[in-house]
Amino acid sequence: MKSYRTWIEISERALSHNISSLSELLEKNARFCAVVKANAYGHGLLEVAQIAGRCDVNTFAVDQIDDALILRERFPSALILVLGYTMFDRFLEAIQNDIHITLYDKEGVEHAEKVARGLAKTFKIHLKIETGTSRQGVMLDDVADIARTIVRSNAVTVIGASTHFANIEDSGNPQFATLQFSRFQEAVEILSSHGINPELLHCACSAAIILYPETHLNMVRAGISMYGLWSSDLVQTTVRNLSGGCDLQPVLSWKTRIAQIKSLPMGTAVGYGLTEVLKRSGRIAVLPVGYYDGYDRSLSSCGEVLVKGYRCKVIGRVCMNMMMVDVSHVPNIQKEDEVILIGTDGRHRVTADELAQKAGTISYELISRINSQLPRVVI
Ligand SMILES: *Cc1c(COP(=O)(O)O)cnc(C)c1O
Repeated sequence: MKSYRTWIEISERALSHNISSLSELLEKNARFCAVVKANAYGHGLLEVAQIAGRCDVNTFAVDQIDDALILRERFPSALILVLGYTMFDRFLEAIQNDIHITLYDKEGVEHAEKVARGLAKTFKIHLKIETGTSRQGVMLDDVADIARTIVRSNAVTVIGASTHFANIEDSGNPQFATLQFSRFQEAVEILSSHGINPELLHCACSAAIILYPETHLNMVRAGISMYGLWSSDLVQTTVRNLSGGCDLQPVLSWKTRIAQIKSLPMGTAVGYGLTEVLKRSGRIAVLPVGYYDGYDRSLSSCGEVLVKGYRCKVIGRVCMNMMMVDVSHVPNIQKEDEVILIGTDGRHRVTADELAQKAGTISYELISRINSQLPRVVI
């Protein structure tokens, strides 16, 4: 293997394990859709899709059409769904490459109709329903109207209807999710009363897959859990208390190497702004990774990395392409020794959740912002 300065390792075994653990939870007939938006949550779009493909996953969801086109080249027969916004001038590429797009307004449907008619093809769309997240979606009051527009068109097929929960991972009380689910079913009934019966009804994200089987319908959209992370502490503790449950293994490790080691006397300031001063004489290691790579600057003076199985604290401010860690307590280290930013080394582990918490965010943001230019190595 070529050696890298800073790289991401993707465990095929862990990803396969998570896909099969989640698949075991599914209500029968529910299709498993792998959510690979945001460079597969920072894991690498193609790396993840190829492993998922080897696990017989043939349904992928992305945020935007460019990712869908990349997947289409490698997966000629997969169902590929764009969850996010597609500009009108990209509709042609979507239909030509059999990419499903998400629509939620009359303008969108009418434009799809126009593009499809020009090609004498059918446009496969998923109609997104607004049920309470106040994000994308057609309002319940407008469903009948959009249904009439769809029925009048003969080139647009509603192959899916979907919605997205607002707080299913954040609340032990499923009251709001239940309300959203019943609004979704109401919309599905309105569509049905107009003769529109989508083949795929889907609303379940990871937390819903794990905690609420009744939301599986005939497709689920698995994101964070597929990568071996929990949607929230609440979901994790709920599952732990259920016993049985579902076991997830983190897929991603993030590694770098020591670029320089130096001994410094007590009182020496480290890094920009002289924000941190050595309390006693010690050693620091300079690492070739910084906030440009996705190691958040808010981890300055509080992030921890693993060197030879020892936890080492980030000292001073994280720079754009470098950072310094305190390695005073680590014996026998050398330049170019491996350092773990996220991952396991012997008894110790640094998790994405731990770093996210220190950075004041969630694992979703922390991992999805790992720079996509860093090499992803499947192990
Ligand atoms: C990101 C996303 C998901 C996946 O959510 P997870 O909590 O990561 O499983 C599902 N559906 C939609 C619409 C999304 O945007």
